[in-house]
Formats: sequence, structure tokens, C-alpha cells
Amino acid sequence: MEVYGLIGHPVGHSLSPVMHNAGFAAIGRDASYVTFEPPRDGAVRAIRAADTLGIRGLNVTIPFKEGVMEAVRPDPIAARVGAVNTVVFGEQEPSGHNTDIEGALAALERHNVEVRGADAVLVGAGGAGRAIAYGLVEGGATVSIVNRTESRADALAAELDVAGYGLDALERLLPAADLLINATSVGMERDRSPVPRDVLHSELTVMDAVYRPLETRLLQDAAAVGAKPIDGAWMLLFQGTAAFERWTGVDAPVDAMNEALREAL
Ligand code: NAP
Repeated sequence: MEVYGLIGHPVGHSLSPVMHNAGFAAIGRDASYVTFEPPRDGAVRAIRAADTLGIRGLNVTIPFKEGVMEAVRPDPIAARVGAVNTVVFGEQEPSGHNTDIEGALAALERHNVEVRGADAVLVGAGGAGRAIAYGLVEGGATVSIVNRTESRADALAAELDVAGYGLDALERLLPAADLLINATSVGMERDRSPVPRDVLHSELTVMDAVYRPLETRLLQDAAAVGAKPIDGAWMLLFQGTAAFERWTGVDAPVDAMNEALREAL
């Protein structure tokens, strides 16, 4: 049996096993996806151990996405972003990829959102924000990065040669925007939104990276003003299907993986 998995700390609430195991079952692959919780300073050792044990592929989550870089050969986009969420093992040195970027773009594409030429406002400049910002710029959007800690928005914006702002800029930026993406953790567990409802409008597509709950306050507000809401499970799904395809070399059974994910959520 092929073994795949996730390293993170903690990994207890991860939905990746449900999603990937449903994918393997759907294509009749003799494979299993399990979670591992190495010590926080164990990123490199975990990759070497997995390679030695013949594990075929790993996803990587907080706090290891940067730390595994020195144990893998990152592809050009993972090297640019400085974070890896997918490792492929084989004959040669393990390779590192960042499918969060593809996940965000595929979620938008699935909902017929044209990224090229879009005026996009991204709220959040942490790990998810970083990946989404790179994806949006790569996809040809005009991107404004907004963050509570403005200096962090500015630093990420400078890497990408775009503009960074504090949260107070939302009011100015949103009227002209086509696309709003939340990559902050606001909305998780508590009924709060990072964006005041009165700056949303009906011409917007609003995507949330938060997937617990699926219907965040932001997405409820977006729907209420007639904007198009896209929940965080889509990005989660497509970062997963992109990893699945890199590991197995076959098309991911997207519907089966989506169904398992949404059932678990
Ligand atoms: P992170 O690196 O810790 O970044 C957190 C971000 O949230 C920062 O921009 C932070 O701003 C902002 N923030 C936190 N509390 C805030 C508040 N009270 N008001 C305004 N901004 C606040 O976390 P992450 O890994 O990027 O994850 C962010 C969210 O995305 C999480 O909910 C995570 O589950 C989700 N996510 C989803 C996917 C997916 O596939 N759907 C993938 C990755 C992450 P400061 O810089 O000012 O602290």
C-alpha cells in the first residue's frame, strides 16, 4: 500500500485525510493518507524520515511550510513564495510545491471568475495571504493587499511590486474592486467579518479562505448585498486535488473529494 500524509502541529482537525482517502477510493488506488505531528523543530528530519520510509507524498502545514524548504528541491513558484505545502518523493531528491496558489486560482476559475485584469483586494498577509497574493499577481490581477498590521501588508506588497494598506483603506478600495478575498483568520469560530458590510457591493465576487464555518459572516454579508460568495472549502479542495495529481500522476476525482470534504465540514 502506498502511504501519503500530512505533517503539521497540530494536525488533529485536518480534513485532508477524509478528502484524499475518498480520492484514492474513487480511483481504486491501494493507498492511504495519514497525519503526523513531528516536534516543532522537526521539519527537516520529518522529510528525511518520510523519504527513507518510502512515503510517496506529504502535505505540509503550519508550522513547517517554510522549514521543509531546505530538505526539498522547491519548484520555481514555491521557491519564490518561500513556502512548500506539498512534497513529492521518488527516485531523486524530494521536490517541494505550493499548491495553495493553484488552489486559490482554481477555486476562482471553477466559479467563472476572470482573474486576468480583475481589480482584486486581498485582506490578510499571513501564510494564506502570501500564497493568494502570488497567485493573483501570477494570474494577471491588479492586487491591493490590506492587513491589520500595515507593515506586513507593505512588506508582501513590496515583494510583488503592488500596493499595501492598513484595514482603513477598505472603504476607499472596495468601490472600484471586482474581487475581494479574505485570507485573515477572522470569521473562524466567531461570528465576525474583517470587512464592514456597508463597503460590500453587488458587483463583487467575495472569496473567503476560512472554511470553518463554511458560511462565514463575510460570505453572508456578501450574499445579502447581491455579491457572489465563494467559500473556503473550494480553495482547500483544489490545493488538495493539485497535490493528489502531482503524487499519483492521474486526474483527481474532484467530485468525490469535494463531496467527502463537504460532508466532513
Ligand atoms: P496566519 O499566517 O496566522 O495569518 C493570519 C492573518 O489574519 C494575518 O494577516 C493577521 O493579521 C490576520 N488577523 C488575525 N486576527 C485578526 C483580526 N482580529 N483582525 C484583522 N486581521 C486579523 O494564518 P494563515 O495560515 O494565513 O490562515 C488564515 C486563514 O486562512 C485561516 O482561517 C486558515 O484556516 C485559512 N486557510 C485556508 C486555506 C484554504 O485552503 N481554504 C489555506 C490556508 C489557510 P496581522 O498580520 O495583523 O496579525
